[in-house]
Amino acid sequence: MTHVIDGNAVGDRITDELAESIEKLEANGVTPGLATVLMSDDGASETYVSMKQRACEEIGIEGSHYDINPNVPEEVLIDCIDELNEDPSVHGILVQMPVPDHIDSQAVLKRIDPMKDIDGFHPENVGRLVAGDPRFVPCTPHGVQKLLAATDVDPEGKDVVIVGRSNIVGKPLANLLMQKSDGGNATVTVCHSRTDDLGAKTRRADIVVAAAGVPELVDGDMILDGTTVIDVGVNRVDADNEKGYELVGDVDFESAKENASAITPVPGGIGPMTITMLLYNTVKAASLQADIPVELPDGTSSYRLE
Ligand code: NAD
Repeated sequence: MTHVIDGNAVGDRITDELAESIEKLEANGVTPGLATVLMSDDGASETYVSMKQRACEEIGIEGSHYDINPNVPEEVLIDCIDELNEDPSVHGILVQMPVPDHIDSQAVLKRIDPMKDIDGFHPENVGRLVAGDPRFVPCTPHGVQKLLAATDVDPEGKDVVIVGRSNIVGKPLANLLMQKSDGGNATVTVCHSRTDDLGAKTRRADIVVAAAGVPELVDGDMILDGTTVIDVGVNRVDADNEKGYELVGDVDFESAKENASAITPVPGGIGPMTITMLLYNTVKAASLQADIPVELPDGTSSYRLE
């Protein structure tokens, strides 16, 4: 029987524990604050930002939002970041990607104070992750790791194949799972668009993580019996419904489920975990900046779902 991993349930459990950390911060006069910045008219980006703001509101994080006209020069965005860097009530800053073409996204990410970089994309935080001393782990890879822990799938000694080498998913996830620490110790292969015979690689894996942005790229033929399959992909494909589209992952769920021992659905798998780990990083940022230690959920056996 294949275990369909419920990212909403695991995310909710971690969020409940985070609420206790927030109470402790509140008792010490600190309300964690998250500022989101959007410089785009893209509907999907607007939806992501409003979901993040709603999640903050529900748990007692003070959310603030800044809409920047996508046609203005880069300085306007940089000035906004500078102000947020200086604002003591803001502990985390998230600039929703992608930004328009005339904006240098690396310059933007570098401008965010590394102590407020709750996306974990600033080079200082990327370097700390690679060096095995993470401060803020990028939310989606962190969500993958927590979801594996909650499913009692320990990556230690396992062969993990990650499909995708982006800076926001594939690369940080590879670093996370190969770390010599709990939730790591895996042997990781990272595949990408130039990989020859992807199926030969995924068929050797104990755990496959698909993060390529290609609808249903990984199907049942590419998955051996007993593999854990984590689908990070979120792709809009045309559909004959009211919206005119539906969301599908990078995994062909029905055929992969035939062989997988555990598998995440889309939606309802990694998506909610990404938001949970954003809340997690914001609480951690507030704790670090206020110098008030709080317990953070570790995502291990207490979250196991039967
Ligand atoms: P990206 O476009 O930056 O990177 C895609 C990677 O996949 C590249 O490294 C590329 O080499 C590789 N790739 C593309 N086609 C391939 C193929 N045929 N075979 C092997 N590798 C191939 O994408 P990204 O930002 O990493 O996102 C990947 C997917 O994950 C997207 O669908 C995105 O929407 C989704 N995503 C979801 C969440 C979430 O919270 N659920 C968060 C981030 C990204």
